[in-house]
Amino acid sequence: MKAFVYFGDKDFAITELPMPKAGEGEAVARILCASICGTDLRTYRFGSEKLKTPITIGHEACCLIEENGKGVNLAGRYIAAPAIGCGQCRSCRKGRTNMCDSLQTIGFQYPGTFAEYMRIPAEAIQRGHLIRVPDHVSDQAASVVEPVACAINAQSYLKIEDGDSVLIYGAGYLGCIHAELALMQGARKVIIAEVSEKRRIKAKAFVPEAHVINSVDKAYMDQVKDIAGGVGVDVVITACPAGITHRQGLDLLNKNGRMSLFGGLPGENNYQLDSNLIHYKEASVYGAHASTVEQNRQALELVASGRLNVEKYITAYALKDADKAFQSLIDETAEKVVLIP
Ligand SMILES: [Zn+2]
Ligand SMILES: [Zn+2]
Repeated sequence: MKAFVYFGDKDFAITELPMPKAGEGEAVARILCASICGTDLRTYRFGSEKLKTPITIGHEACCLIEENGKGVNLAGRYIAAPAIGCGQCRSCRKGRTNMCDSLQTIGFQYPGTFAEYMRIPAEAIQRGHLIRVPDHVSDQAASVVEPVACAINAQSYLKIEDGDSVLIYGAGYLGCIHAELALMQGARKVIIAEVSEKRRIKAKAFVPEAHVINSVDKAYMDQVKDIAGGVGVDVVITACPAGITHRQGLDLLNKNGRMSLFGGLPGENNYQLDSNLIHYKEASVYGAHASTVEQNRQALELVASGRLNVEKYITAYALKDADKAFQSLIDETAEKVVLIP
């Protein structure tokens, strides 16, 4: 079978690999559509020291069961919640499997989705990580559900309510999804701050209810206050890899405001937050990492019910054109890119 394999440093190639076999408790699935995540793009551009190479990366996909191992009886199309907890540690016992002490993730510790076929680990099947895709949901839509689950995880801490103003940094797929989720929860003003003009134009079309503004220079901070009604915002979400947004976001936060540091920062960072601001504003600052099975279920339900249209964000490429697909993300000509084997 063909797979897009990462060999270390910045070396990727479409490679012929042996067909995976389903061992006891496992299954083999045909990848119908796999989606490229920001993490994959980071590995493609800058390499990753964390991955044991060679490995097939990718963790977002819609797949069709082709072979069941001993003791397994699955059929049909599924998405797999990729971050698999041990089920034993303190976080797992509390249902926060995404915070597992020994998290094993598809496309990181297990071979990933940028391939024609994938072996589904026994742990994923045992712990309920496979979620059935309803017939009316397309392969492409199902393949981009997992990032929505990560946004749901971040917003679970933010308690967005009717009338809130929400500032989102970054107009990529996840910035826009955050905006759509915030609007669903009754946010009155949703502002997306983005430095790239190409991205701003697209975000305006994708989420017409949001105010999309240019944050390339600091004057945008006054614009945020104007839109929010002369004050700051109740909620800030950073969906971009720029540390400066952590500091400026905290500045713009209202009293009792909530902030999610959603996007991780590459490498070392020295964006210290002013803890006195947090103290005097009684602000809350939250982290966010990956998602639970339940949140993947909720995300799929939002898509299946038609409340969230994810298809409008998608550009599709053939798996053999994976390099072109990654390039379209680098050029910002595409918002969310999927690979079809
Ligand atoms: Zn992802
Ligand atoms: Zn665990």
